[in-house]
Amino acid sequence: MISANRFQRQVLEWFDRFGRHDLPWQHPRSPYRVWLSEVMLQQTQVKTVIPYFERFLERFPDVGALASAEEDEVLHLWTGLGYYARARNLLKCACVVVDEHGGEFPRCVDQLETLPGIGRSTAGAIVSMAYGEPAAILDGNVKRVLARFAAIPGWPGQTAVHKQLWQVAERFTPETRCADYTQAMMDLGATLCTRSKPACELCPLADDCAARAAGTQADYPGKKPKKALPVRATTMLLVCAPDNAVWLTRRPSEGLWGGLWSFPEVEDEAAGHTYCLDLFGREPAATERWDPLRHTFSHYHLDIQPLRLTLEAAPGAVMEGGQQLWYNWAAPEAVGLAAPVSRLIKKLEEL
Ligand code: SF4
Repeated sequence: MISANRFQRQVLEWFDRFGRHDLPWQHPRSPYRVWLSEVMLQQTQVKTVIPYFERFLERFPDVGALASAEEDEVLHLWTGLGYYARARNLLKCACVVVDEHGGEFPRCVDQLETLPGIGRSTAGAIVSMAYGEPAAILDGNVKRVLARFAAIPGWPGQTAVHKQLWQVAERFTPETRCADYTQAMMDLGATLCTRSKPACELCPLADDCAARAAGTQADYPGKKPKKALPVRATTMLLVCAPDNAVWLTRRPSEGLWGGLWSFPEVEDEAAGHTYCLDLFGREPAATERWDPLRHTFSHYHLDIQPLRLTLEAAPGAVMEGGQQLWYNWAAPEAVGLAAPVSRLIKKLEEL
């Protein structure tokens, strides 16, 4: 394998000319901003993240402001980014930084890794980009570049493959220009060494890249072994009242869509009517079955049967302990909504 010096030089020269220098979290590259952007960028592309990052920063300009936020507001600002555990951990992490670290992010990978939602790669990104100290990263983009460059076979989710990739990542991490190098590796993966059709002819590593030499770029990184996902089914009740009101309940804070607002779920239509009778003291005046929709999680598909139940008047059901709410889609509350719930509310709006 080529020397670390040569690798770093090629990557950094390319970065100076072609890398991304104007991302909002680069100016300034404070630990808070780098951390926030890194968490948002997990499984999400830069162009999607930028408006979320800016809205977040405007509302929570520093870790102290975030630590004193309500979870509902954080989830609301996160709505649409998915993987909501990230948002809940963001709040937990901000609280730990404020309560246990005097509002300063730790400067070393080991300590950062003890914080909620911060893995080794995010910790490495904070150390290298915000503090300018050497630390390797291995996010999805960098995994792809290194797996191809060094022709490391196998799915990175397997421990042995993961370990090998970290070894390569560490071997090439420089002692100087740490922030630029980290950004450069992310940029290489995002802009040239893309999942399909990598632009090898423009890549600074092309002369030494094992996958390119063999024409096997598409084989790396190895795919996750396929498993058919199980299917679960549920019926969601869209209980509607006059003046754009729809009934929402808050999910328990742990588990699926934790802390987000969703429609009540029941077994079937009869149970939906019973729900209205018990809670609102009346049966719905009209019932409509909408087309089912599928939401796919990493471990299963959820087939949702939406059932729209219309009440003739808005009954004063008890909004117990902030766990239930008449949500007005024309003047929405600042709460986080599960993705399919957002989609269904949009459909109600369009009726
Ligand atoms: S030469 Fe091609 S496959 Fe190799 S690292 Fe560069 S873009 Fe990726």
